[in-house]
Amino acid sequence: AVFCADYAAGFVNGPTGFGLRRARLPSVSQQKRVSRNVLMSATLDPSGKTEPETKMNIEEAWKSFLKVSPLTRKINAQSSDGRKTVVITGASSGIGLQTAKAMSADKGWHVIMAVRSYSKAARAAEEIGMEPGTYTIMNLDLASLSSVRDFVNQLRLLGRPIDAIVCNAAVWYPRDTAPRLTVDGFEEAVGTNHLGHFLLCNLLLGDLPEGDGRVVFIGTETANDGLAGLIPPVADLGKLEGMAAGMKSTIDGGKFEPTKAYKDSKVCNAIVMREMNKRYGKSRGLIVNAMFPGCIAESPLFRQKRAWFRWLFPKFQKAITKQFVPEEVAGQRVANVVADEELGVGGTYWKWNAQAGKDFTRVAFDQQKQAAANLVKIPAEALDEMISEAVWDLSSALVGLG
Ligand code: NDP
Repeated sequence: AVFCADYAAGFVNGPTGFGLRRARLPSVSQQKRVSRNVLMSATLDPSGKTEPETKMNIEEAWKSFLKVSPLTRKINAQSSDGRKTVVITGASSGIGLQTAKAMSADKGWHVIMAVRSYSKAARAAEEIGMEPGTYTIMNLDLASLSSVRDFVNQLRLLGRPIDAIVCNAAVWYPRDTAPRLTVDGFEEAVGTNHLGHFLLCNLLLGDLPEGDGRVVFIGTETANDGLAGLIPPVADLGKLEGMAAGMKSTIDGGKFEPTKAYKDSKVCNAIVMREMNKRYGKSRGLIVNAMFPGCIAESPLFRQKRAWFRWLFPKFQKAITKQFVPEEVAGQRVANVVADEELGVGGTYWKWNAQAGKDFTRVAFDQQKQAAANLVKIPAEALDEMISEAVWDLSSALVGLG
């Protein structure tokens, strides 16, 4: 059986514990046009009225402009390089960082590393050997709706059109006994992993190229149907009672359990993946996927687990279950799903066949891609049209989308 880090967390904690696309325009002229458009939208209102909303646009645009450091602007001015561009959330560590490297080096894309800490990401990119000029680091705190909106404004001012978004960032607090709240008052796992990404993707949908835009969600098998998903605490959205009540604790309105909160947020990612594909797949040619990257037993996701667990678990994965996947390989898998045409099948939740005992770093890249043709059992809730639409509508209301 597939045995992932997350599953073990479940066992340990027990039920109560735990083609050629559009041409690139020179970035400088583009930046000017974007700023001018935003700034002029108030003054050109034919009715002569200046709506409060448009005033806010001007203020937000100006604030965003000021926040972009001269260094960032310089880096971006140099990057009208014809590379496609991908936004990767949580690219400061683990799978996100490795995806950033694989996208910028192997796939030849430009990476926007959307992170909480600029200095942490800068250090990590340097340490991992990412080529300067192939990436831009930008501030994004998914646990704050205003930070998500600021990020989107800044991104537009950079004048670098995006082609893909990887929703990778996540928090998991397995030892918490009470919910942490985001600045907007949402339980943090759902607030960050689901609502932050939901707002980000919805704001950026129109920025993705028609017919060629990609969105990829990183999911976990422990939140899906099948054996892995049976390990308690089991994901369960109930009738969305807690979400309808403001998402202050659990989605189903039941007792708070931190690992369940994490898994529930991942079910929401699967729901959004399918809904987004349904809504914009045909109309905009958007390709939205989810994927389970494998068991990355050494990633910082386990930072809250006890030291003995973090020591033992990777060894267990390597020696006993033989399901261990190095971060680097997981990053390559994500990069494949983002960039490879054959994996761009909208609404698909990809996973790799468990090649137990194999040293993945020695498996040819092409073989890994072929092995991806194996579908995860999407959580039943994500297949339920009524629940999916209700999650979409409630989430829109919570993040302030019309
Ligand atoms: P990491 O903890 O290394 O990565 C999580 C990233 O999310 C970090 O870079 C973190 O930033 C970032 N992040 C957390 N909160 C926020 C926030 N509020 N705003 C912006 N960024 C934030 O773990 P992994 O690399 O293992 O996890 C990456 C993804 O893979 C997650 O979605 C996880 O659920 C998924 N996954 C992981 C598996 C595994 O075995 N590790 C298995 C299956 C899925 P910071 O550096 O500031 O903390």
